Amino acid sequence: MKTRFEGTPLARLEGENGLHDDGMRRALIDALEPGEIPKARYAVSAHIWVEAVLTDRALLLVKGAVRARVVREPFPLEVVRAPQGARSGVRLRTSLGTKTLWGSELDPNGRQLYARARGEAAPVVATPPAPWETAERSRQATTPSSPPPLPREPKGQTQRLTRKERAEARRRAGKKPRKPRLKKASRDWVGFPPSSTVWDMSYRCVKCGRPLTNPNSQRHRVGTDCIKRYGSQARKIPNPAYTAWSARRAKADVDKIAQQAAYDAEHARALADYAVALDRWQRIRAGEIELPSGR
Ligand SMILES: [Zn+2]
Repeated sequence: MKTRFEGTPLARLEGENGLHDDGMRRALIDALEPGEIPKARYAVSAHIWVEAVLTDRALLLVKGAVRARVVREPFPLEVVRAPQGARSGVRLRTSLGTKTLWGSELDPNGRQLYARARGEAAPVVATPPAPWETAERSRQATTPSSPPPLPREPKGQTQRLTRKERAEARRRAGKKPRKPRLKKASRDWVGFPPSSTVWDMSYRCVKCGRPLTNPNSQRHRVGTDCIKRYGSQARKIPNPAYTAWSARRAKADVDKIAQQAAYDAEHARALADYAVALDRWQRIRAGEIELPSGR
């Protein structure tokens, strides 16, 4: 019976799991350089359609099924975590993000990948010093009396907390502080605006002074005879109700601005407290601060 790797450049992966998809295998074969030898295959985090193959030259990440794409990751790669856990997952910083590679049959404890990622077994390239190391070195060379930078991280990257310590630190740190939100003041409801003008009603004819009883005549401010001679004398005057309403609204506006100023001040205080609390939370989680009450 012919297996899925047999007779292809992937024959060396015989015995590995995964790579069941034709498209992914084809993309991988296309991506191999002449004479490049695949060494092991890994699952990538919990992704179904991403797999990784270690070759004698690089790490190849195969992504997707229908139109599979291969990303070539040259060594050395940044190792976030050495092989660990039941599956001996190696955590690496790749161009697809930080991923845990695991589950190889040919490299069951992940040691091969770990060594290659750190550039150890790479035949040509000696591990170049990391950029921060060179920067540190040159700074020491030029300004020996510079103040010690970075008061944080007294533990350093080498002394990572153990799994148990990390769980303990997480428990002690508790919930992450919530970032305060700025409250928005709103204007109090002062009712719908009344019309700004009203008819000037008159109870006497403005031309002859006779009393007016007809509401229509009162609005025109002239009697039925005078309207024929002089025409309508109707006019509009400012509505006192509207003036009162404007005053109420102006007061509501002032109140709103004052309320917003109070909210702003409250928010600024809360933000400052939040920054302190967040920093403390992060430090506790990183194991830098031991709470007096804890332990
Ligand atoms: Zn009249």
